[in-house]
Amino acid sequence: MRRTAEIAGAGLSGLLLATRLAQLGWTVRLHERNADLRMFGAGIWIWESGLRALEVVGAYDRATARARTIAEWRIADRNGRTLMSRPTTPSDRLLLPPRADLYEALITQAGYFGVDIQTSSTAVSITPDGVMQMLDGTEHKADLVVAADGTYSRLRESILATGWVDYGVEAGIRMLIDRNDGDPEDTIIEYWHGRRRLLYNPCTDGQDYIFLSAPVDDERASTMPVDRDLWSTAFPIAANLVERFAEASRWDRLVNVRCRHWSKGHAAVIGDAAHAMPPNLGQAANTAFINAMALAMILEGESDIPTALLRWEKECRGLSDHVQWWSYLYGFVLAKVPERLDPVRARMLRSVSGTRAFQNALNKGARTVPAGARLDPVRT
Ligand SMILES: Cc1cc2nc3c(=O)[nH]c(=O)nc-3n(C[C@H](O)[C@H](O)[C@H](O)COP(=O)(O)OP(=O)(O)OC[C@H]3O[C@@H](n4cnc5c(N)ncnc54)[C@H](O)[C@@H]3O)c2cc1C
Repeated sequence: MRRTAEIAGAGLSGLLLATRLAQLGWTVRLHERNADLRMFGAGIWIWESGLRALEVVGAYDRATARARTIAEWRIADRNGRTLMSRPTTPSDRLLLPPRADLYEALITQAGYFGVDIQTSSTAVSITPDGVMQMLDGTEHKADLVVAADGTYSRLRESILATGWVDYGVEAGIRMLIDRNDGDPEDTIIEYWHGRRRLLYNPCTDGQDYIFLSAPVDDERASTMPVDRDLWSTAFPIAANLVERFAEASRWDRLVNVRCRHWSKGHAAVIGDAAHAMPPNLGQAANTAFINAMALAMILEGESDIPTALLRWEKECRGLSDHVQWWSYLYGFVLAKVPERLDPVRARMLRSVSGTRAFQNALNKGARTVPAGARLDPVRT
């Protein structure tokens, strides 16, 4: 008999999990509260771990068709001097597709494997005995019910999973800008100055992805529309990017979420609902993909769902906590250091960031081979 799953939230985590379960023979219904499936169009870093997950579900080609292959992620000071360099290799990849391409690719594969996606379908609770209750009063019983409803998850509350929500001190602004000849082709450059950051990402042949961050109380830097004078004065080296800053952009507070537990009985929490983190390492969605792949594989080998869910958290929680902690630490070093301490921070970063221990810790999630993916080792 086919096992059944009801998943709330057709974001990247819900879609990947739904697709993988359906690929393995489950009957899956995915509920999205919005009337349309849509994704804001900036870029997203997809590391080796995430790319392998996409390969398994058959979404890789479509997701990455327009993506730039990144050769190096670099942190620089406001004058362009390197503070940290993180090169990639063919077996330790980083690609930068537009989010919309990744989203479309996952929707296509979900459809291919028969996931029933229902829009305008809002879940209000999940229960340990495997019931998802909907806003319209209907109930769906399944072997597995999943909250994939994002950072501000309402559903995780129904299994008392929320442990800690930290609204942090930073906010970020995302946008796509027109690409110019001369923009770096395969290098991500993250300029730091005091508590502000300007992050340049080559994305497609026609567009670059820009991410700006600053403390929320830095009103001029963290408000929209973006103050071009401020950013070009803070980062003169990037003035030609600032000139092209687009009006259409998105503002997010950079939030951390930790759960007391990831499951109760037949109910589970995944993705940002389980472990939202500031986007400093570009690994939150990649981590959700690793966890979705692991969950599907553990369920393959274990018929008792509550036991499988407990094993899943035991096996995956350590890596998620690690990635989240490093993301937090990174944000702390960036957002808590005042401008006058830039030289001290620069010296510190230059001396530690090249060490093997630092690189291994920073990249642990990015280099993880998800369960069910090819097992050849990621060489560094
Ligand atoms: C600025 C920024 C940059 C980032 N860059 C990267 C990056 O480069 N690489 C990376 O790996 N990660 C990155 N991340 C993190 C990544 O975007 C998230 O981890 C990922 O999108 C989370 O997906 P999700 O599906 O868990 O949640 P969401 O994307 O929030 O999706 C949740 C979905 O659930 C729906 N929903 C909510 N409530 C209900 C309900 N009650 N019933 C039904 N549906 C519901 C919502 O409408 C939504 O569609 C970044 C994050 C930010 C803020």
